Amino acid sequence: MELIRLCNIENNKTKESIILLKLANNYKCPYCGSNKICKNGHTGASQQFRCNACKKNYSSKTNTIFFHTRKTIELWQEYIELFSQGLSLRKIVEKMDKKISYPTSFYWRHKILEVMKNFDNHDKLEGIVEADETYFEESQKGSRHMTRKARKRGFSSEKRIVGLSHNKVCVLTALDRQKHSFNKPVGYGKVSKYQIEILQHRIEKDSILITDGERGYRTIKDVKLKQLKFGKAQSKVYHLNNINNFHSHLKKFMIRFNGVATKYLDNYVNYFREFRDKIDTFNQLLQLQGYYRVVDIKARRVGFKSGVELQQML
Ligand SMILES: [Zn+2]
Repeated sequence: MELIRLCNIENNKTKESIILLKLANNYKCPYCGSNKICKNGHTGASQQFRCNACKKNYSSKTNTIFFHTRKTIELWQEYIELFSQGLSLRKIVEKMDKKISYPTSFYWRHKILEVMKNFDNHDKLEGIVEADETYFEESQKGSRHMTRKARKRGFSSEKRIVGLSHNKVCVLTALDRQKHSFNKPVGYGKVSKYQIEILQHRIEKDSILITDGERGYRTIKDVKLKQLKFGKAQSKVYHLNNINNFHSHLKKFMIRFNGVATKYLDNYVNYFREFRDKIDTFNQLLQLQGYYRVVDIKARRVGFKSGVELQQML
């Protein structure tokens, strides 16, 4: 994909010392946001702080992707740059002369994807908006405890199984013609109207919403709904071409990861969207504009929120 070439971040490399200084000058407690903090010595190169409000200690790396890492920030930057080119983990490790291991490379990728989630844009879609769903096989790859029986691979063609299978993960997408997008795994099996309702908050009033015949879309209010029979284009304006393209690129993009574990699907979908929409993300990552909360992904469990909970998050 050509998108990758757009990620030119060469000029944004910053020395570790400068980054740490920048972080140290970001005088806010990463836990409670208070300004009442004082310096509390150094550990290695990073400044330690203590918050007088919540009494927590932290370092300038707390809540950044560099937290709990013994590798240098320069290595991270090298990694992020290669990562932003969409290279496979193996390639990245090779290009970095094995300065990091394969498992580290895997872990870093997810740390970065996790952080990127926070860049999720909340722009509303407007004008002519296309919406549709696509489905991915469920995968519990990498999970220690399988809650479902392993299935044989490749037994289903998508069309036959959609609407029936609970082993499929539904990814809901909406795009407008200004290239704003919404794109999120919403649950197992056929899309429900509650899941579709999430879109309500993301589509500007009086937009034209184009979908296939799926009934659930009729629950979206304040839009002019245009439902195309079998998803077939009605005119040069009323079609689902953009979203079909988006989904086919998304599927191709996923192939390189060899069957994504469902618990990471959200991250990858977001990763894909970042490539398409917001090349700036990588620049921001490299320049560390502010703190990004990083959750411990190793502890994360699979599971989707209900439509109602999802709506509350938005
Ligand atoms: Zn605090």
